[in-house]
Amino acid sequence: MEYSGPTSLYIDGDWVDAESGETIETFDPATEERYATVACADETDVDAAVEAAKSAAARGSEWRTMDPSTRGERLRAMADAIAARKDEISLVESHDNGKTPFEAGMEVQMVVDTFRYYAGWTDKVTGEYNAVPGDRVNFTTREPLGVTGHIVPWNYPFQLAGRSIAPALACGNTAVVKPSSQTPLSALYYGIAAEEAGLPEGVVNVVPGSGSKAGSALASHPDVEHVTFTGSTEIGKRVMADAAENVTGVTLELGGKGPHVVFPDADLDAAAKGVHYGIFMNAGQMCWAGSRLLVHEDVADELVEKIVQRAEATPLGSGIDDDGRMGPVVSEDHMEDVLEYITIGVEEGATVACGGGVDEEKDAGYFVEPTVLTDVTNDMTVAREEIFGPVLSVIEFSDQEEAIELANDSPYGLLAGIWTQGLSRAHQVADALDYGMVSVNEYPVTFPQTPFGGTKQSGHGREQGEEAIREFTQAKNINLNI
Ligand code: NAD
Repeated sequence: MEYSGPTSLYIDGDWVDAESGETIETFDPATEERYATVACADETDVDAAVEAAKSAAARGSEWRTMDPSTRGERLRAMADAIAARKDEISLVESHDNGKTPFEAGMEVQMVVDTFRYYAGWTDKVTGEYNAVPGDRVNFTTREPLGVTGHIVPWNYPFQLAGRSIAPALACGNTAVVKPSSQTPLSALYYGIAAEEAGLPEGVVNVVPGSGSKAGSALASHPDVEHVTFTGSTEIGKRVMADAAENVTGVTLELGGKGPHVVFPDADLDAAAKGVHYGIFMNAGQMCWAGSRLLVHEDVADELVEKIVQRAEATPLGSGIDDDGRMGPVVSEDHMEDVLEYITIGVEEGATVACGGGVDEEKDAGYFVEPTVLTDVTNDMTVAREEIFGPVLSVIEFSDQEEAIELANDSPYGLLAGIWTQGLSRAHQVADALDYGMVSVNEYPVTFPQTPFGGTKQSGHGREQGEEAIREFTQAKNINLNI
C-alpha cells in the first residue's frame, strides 16, 4: 500500500523540506520494497528546530505562561488526535518497521495512555517549603528545563518518542525529536497531533535524519538543555560525551540481556507463554527482551519443550498479513547480524533446539525463525551480547544462589523475570537482582505510571511515572530574609 502520510520536517509549526534537499528512502522489511521518501534533516535543520523550540520555551512565551491545566488539556487533545489515527499510524509503523499490526497497535495505544497520564500531571508539579534557621522563608520550586532533545531508535519508533515527549511537554518544556533514519515516518505524526491539539508553534519539532549528522547535532547543541537517548549502549556513550561538552543532562535508555529465572515450583505453562512472548514479540528486537532463560535443571527439559512447541507454532507474517504473529527483522544487515550470532553460538557449543535460520517459504522479507539455543553457558557470546533478534539462550542452574549469580553476571541490568509460586522466594530474588525492573510471573510489562530504566550499561536515569517529572524539571531554591 502507498504511504500517504507526512513526508516533510516539522519545524516551528511548518512542514518544510530539508535545507539541503536531501531525502531518506524507507523500505518495508516484509517485502523489501520501497515504502516512502521523506526529508532528511542535517545540522542546519536541527539548528532551525532548536531555535524554534528555544523561542517557544522562553520565559514569557505562550507555552511557558500557559495555565498548567490548559497545558494538560492540550496534552489530552494530543492523545485524542493520536487515538483517532490509531489504525493509520499502526499501519505505517507496520510497513516501516515490519512489526505486525497487532504489535504496532499496542505501541500506539501505549502512547495514547502515556499522553493521558501526563496530561494529569501538568498541574500537580509542586515544590516544597524548607525549614531553615532565622527569620527567613525558604522554598524550592520546580521549573521546566527548556529545549529537550529526543533521539529515538527503530524498534519502537512511535512509542519511544512519545514516552519522553509527553512528560517533557507536561513540565512545560519544548521538544525536538530525531527518529531513526530506518523508521522515520511515525514520529512525524507528533507534528500532526501537535497541530490538531493547538500547541503553540515550535513546542514540538520533528527532524528525521542520520545519527551522525542530525542526531549528533542535537546531542551537542548548546541550546538543548536535556537529551533523552534511546538506542544502543555504544551510541549512548557517544551521546553522553557530546552532551557533556555543554554540561547537558541526559537520560539514556540502552541495551539489555534480560534473564528469566525459572524455579521448579513455577507454573511452567505460564512461564513458557511469558518466555515465548518476552523473546519473540517484535521479532526479539526489544531492549527488555528476556533473551537469557535461566532454568532449574529439574524442569529445564519440560520447559524448553513447551517453549519450542510454541516457537514452532508461531506464524511468521508481514505487517499486512492478518495471521502473522511475528514479523521480519528490520533490515537485511540486521538479519545477517542475527544469523551470525546463531552461528557463533553453535561454534561455541550451543545446540539449536528450534529455528536457527530464515523462513525459506517466504519469497521476500527478512524473516528469521524463532530460535531456541540450549547447552548455553553464561560466558558464551550469545549469553553476553545483545542479539536484538528472536534468539533465546537457555542456561541451567541448580540452586537459588547460582541463579542470582548468573542473572547478575551481565554488563546489562534492564528487566529481569522471576517465575515461582513461592512468595518468599520471589521477594528474596527480586531484592538480590541488580536490575532497574523486575517482574514476577509476567513478562515483559510496564505502565506509563511506573519507572522504566536500567542499571549498569543499560542506561542512566529513568523514564515514565513521577521519575520522568523529576528528569524534565530542575529545582530552584528561593530564600527570603524577612
Ligand atoms: P542506535 O544506537 O544505532 O540508534 C539510536 C538512535 O541514535 C537513532 O535515531 C540513530 O540515528 C541515532 N544516532 C546514531 N548515531 C548517533 C550519534 N553519533 N549521535 C546522536 N545520535 C545518533 O540504536 P538502534 O539500532 O536504532 O536501536 C537498537 C538499540 O536500542 C538496542 O541496543 C536496544 O537495546 C536499544 N533500545 C533501548 C531501549 C530502552 O528503553 N532501554 C528501548 C529500545 C531500544
